[in-house]
Amino acid sequence: EHISTRYQSVMREEFNVRLIERESTLRMEDLMSAKPKVCIIGSINMDLNVTTNKMPMQGETVLGDKFFTNPGGKGANQAVAAARMGADVNVIGAVGEDAFGQKLRQNLANEGIRTESIETIADVSTGTATIILSENDNRIIVAPGANNHVTPELVAKQRELIEESDIILMQLEVPMETIVSTVKIAEASDVQVILNPAPFQPLPESVLKKTAYMTPNEIELASMKEYPMYESIRQKMIVTRGGKGVTFVENGAENVIGGHCVQVTDTTGAGDTFNGALAGELAGGTNLPDAVTMANAAAALSVSKLGAQSGMPSKQDVQRFLQ
Ligand code: ADP
Repeated sequence: EHISTRYQSVMREEFNVRLIERESTLRMEDLMSAKPKVCIIGSINMDLNVTTNKMPMQGETVLGDKFFTNPGGKGANQAVAAARMGADVNVIGAVGEDAFGQKLRQNLANEGIRTESIETIADVSTGTATIILSENDNRIIVAPGANNHVTPELVAKQRELIEESDIILMQLEVPMETIVSTVKIAEASDVQVILNPAPFQPLPESVLKKTAYMTPNEIELASMKEYPMYESIRQKMIVTRGGKGVTFVENGAENVIGGHCVQVTDTTGAGDTFNGALAGELAGGTNLPDAVTMANAAAALSVSKLGAQSGMPSKQDVQRFLQ
C-alpha cells in the first residue's frame, strides 16, 4: 500500500510537470503567432488567358496573340489579400495531382499562407478558368475540377482549425453543401462567418441566418433582395458598390464609405481584395466601420494595379494611402 501511494504521488508530480510544460509551449505558440487567424474555405484556380483580335465564331479557329497564366480562384485570391493585410491565413481547399496544383500551392506558400489543409485529389484536374480576351468581348469558361471535391467530409477533417480561427471566410465556388456544413461547425464553436455570395446562387435559409456578414456586390444584392426573409438579414449586408464604395448597416442605420478616386487599371479581383482585407481586419478585432474603411481602401489600391493577386496591397500600403 505504501508503495502504491508513493507511486501515485510520483505520477501526480510527473503529470503536473507535463501539464506546466504543455501550457508553456501553448503560450509560446500563442505569442509567436499573435496574428489574427483567418480560415478560408474556397476555390483555387489557374487562370489561362489568351488574347485575340477576333473572337472565334461557331466551328471557327482563329490565330490568337498572347497566352499567359495567373493564379486565381476566389478562395485563393481572398487568402492572398488577407495575408498581405497581415493575417495568419489557412486555406481549406483542393487541387488536382498536376503541375497547376503544385504551382498554385507554392504560390500560396510564397505569400506565407498555410497550405496543409489543401488536399491533392487524384484523377481530377486542378480548377481552371479559360479566359478569351479580345478588345470588346471577354469570354470565360470555368472548369471547377478539384474545387468540387471540397466536400463536407474534407472540411470535417479540419474542424479543429475552424474552431481555433478568429473568422471564417467563404465564397460560392465550392459545393453548397460544404458551405452549409461549415456554417454549422463555425456556429457550434462560436466563430463568425463572412460569406461572399459570389458567383451568386440561391442560399439555404440556415446559411442566410447563421452567417455574421454577407458581402454581395450590387448585382448579387439585387438577387438577394428577392428573398422573402431579406429584411430580417439586411443588417448583415456589407455591399460593395464598385467606384461608389461600400454601404453597410450598423444599429439599424445605413452607413456609406465613399469610393476612392483612383486611376482604374484593372478591376479584376477588386471584390476579392475587399473580402480578404475585411476578414483580416475583423479577425484582428477592428470595429466594423474601421474594417470596412481599410478594406475599401485596399480594394481601391488593387484596381489601380494590373492583375488580381499581383495588384493586392500590403497593410502598410493601405495605411499610407489612408493618411
Ligand atoms: P466585384 O469586384 O465583386 O464586382 P465591386 O465592383 O463592388 O465588386 O468592387 C469591390 C470594391 O472594390 C468596391 O467596394 C471598392 O472598394 C473597390 N472598387 C471597385 N471599383 C473601383 C473603382 N473604380 N474605384 C475605386 N474603388 C473601386
